[in-house]
Amino acid sequence: MLSSSAAMTGVGRYERRRVVVVGGGVAGALLAKTIQFYADVVLIDPKEYFEIPWANLRSKVEPSVAEKTIINHFDYLVNGKIITSSAINVTETEVVTAEGRKVVYEHLVIATGHATNTPRCRRDRLEQFQEENTKIKNSGSILIIGGGPTGVELAAEIAVDYPEKKVTLVHSGPRLLEFIGQRAANKTLHWLKSKNVEVLLDQSVDIDSISEADRVFKTSTGETITADCYFYCVDRPLSSSWLQNSVLKDCLDENGRLMVDEHLRVKGQKNIFAIGDITDVPEIKQGFFAQRHAMVVAKNLKLLINGPKESTLAKYKPATTMAMVSLGRKDAVAQLPFMTMIGFLPGFIKSKDLFVHRTRQQMGLDRCRPSSILTPSSI
Ligand SMILES: Cc1cc2nc3c(=O)[nH]c(=O)nc-3n(C[C@H](O)[C@H](O)[C@H](O)COP(=O)(O)OP(=O)(O)OC[C@H]3O[C@@H](n4cnc5c(N)ncnc54)[C@H](O)[C@@H]3O)c2cc1C
Repeated sequence: MLSSSAAMTGVGRYERRRVVVVGGGVAGALLAKTIQFYADVVLIDPKEYFEIPWANLRSKVEPSVAEKTIINHFDYLVNGKIITSSAINVTETEVVTAEGRKVVYEHLVIATGHATNTPRCRRDRLEQFQEENTKIKNSGSILIIGGGPTGVELAAEIAVDYPEKKVTLVHSGPRLLEFIGQRAANKTLHWLKSKNVEVLLDQSVDIDSISEADRVFKTSTGETITADCYFYCVDRPLSSSWLQNSVLKDCLDENGRLMVDEHLRVKGQKNIFAIGDITDVPEIKQGFFAQRHAMVVAKNLKLLINGPKESTLAKYKPATTMAMVSLGRKDAVAQLPFMTMIGFLPGFIKSKDLFVHRTRQQMGLDRCRPSSILTPSSI
């Protein structure tokens, strides 16, 4: 007979297998949390914490937000092992870490999304947000390099919270937010201009040739911008280079993404899955979709751990284009399948709380209604 806690969690009903999850970001953290009572979970991540990326820009203007969005892995992974290191290789049976540790797996999930150079421990990450906030407060003029979601959201946060500061946004492409439609980009440009943000398109700033102390920045077209500080908001590269000399090297496409099948298994592999931004799933790369990948793979791992049930594995259907970019505390721009929307309505959905409460609920950290709790039986 199962003990009451075992009956609640599912422990004992399944033969426990070693599942190694590489990457503790949006996808990997949710997956590890969800299967922790079904398998011996090992999470490998260079940071001791998981962070909610879509709240990071708010944390630069209001650092106390980070207290809720920078979450130690051990706060949600209460029944698993955490290895704070980067994976540098993978063989047919082991993951090798930067310290030379060999971590044996039976099932492996790769969720290394984007490379990161954020501090190793939570306290230092919180301190970093404080420092960035001080930098913003102490500057009369701010240059933002990059007009993707990070640059746009940061420009909007500063323009709304510090309307007296001169904000200049430089983007190398012909329009902002190139990952969504032209109409959404146009509306965003109009919104930023209405908040006195100067937007320079088709220009870049070579950060290797600038020094913040000079306060003068030259763009590729020769224009000169004076700013007290700058923020570099260009897309971080994918973190798949560590796979280039591994058994999975032939599973990477020309963009460095892992090719997966409809069950999110790495092509040609029986016991290796990939989830999140690292995959070649044909859809825009969003955390919301990365979370859906995690839930599909959690279900598939549960089936595989319970016995080889190939035919019943869940399939992932790529999502249609949908994205929301916050514009300060009240507005947002939304790209929906058949239309775009800007202003208070999408802002009401995203911008006040930036889905922080919902994400914390998903990670089992905040109280929520029983129907929205993610339990092992709901995967
Ligand atoms: C400013 C901004 C706003 C956004 N807003 C939204 C939004 O509103 N809604 C939305 O759905 N999405 C949003 N996104 C996109 C979303 O954040 C990403 O799609 C999501 O983070 C992808 O999740 P992931 O787990 O695949 O990768 P990541 O979250 O990038 O996580 C990767 C993890 O892998 C770890 N890692 C990397 N290399 C290694 C290695 N070699 N070994 C071990 N670990 C490694 C990293 O430390 C990290 O923890 C936003 C992104 C940004 C930057």
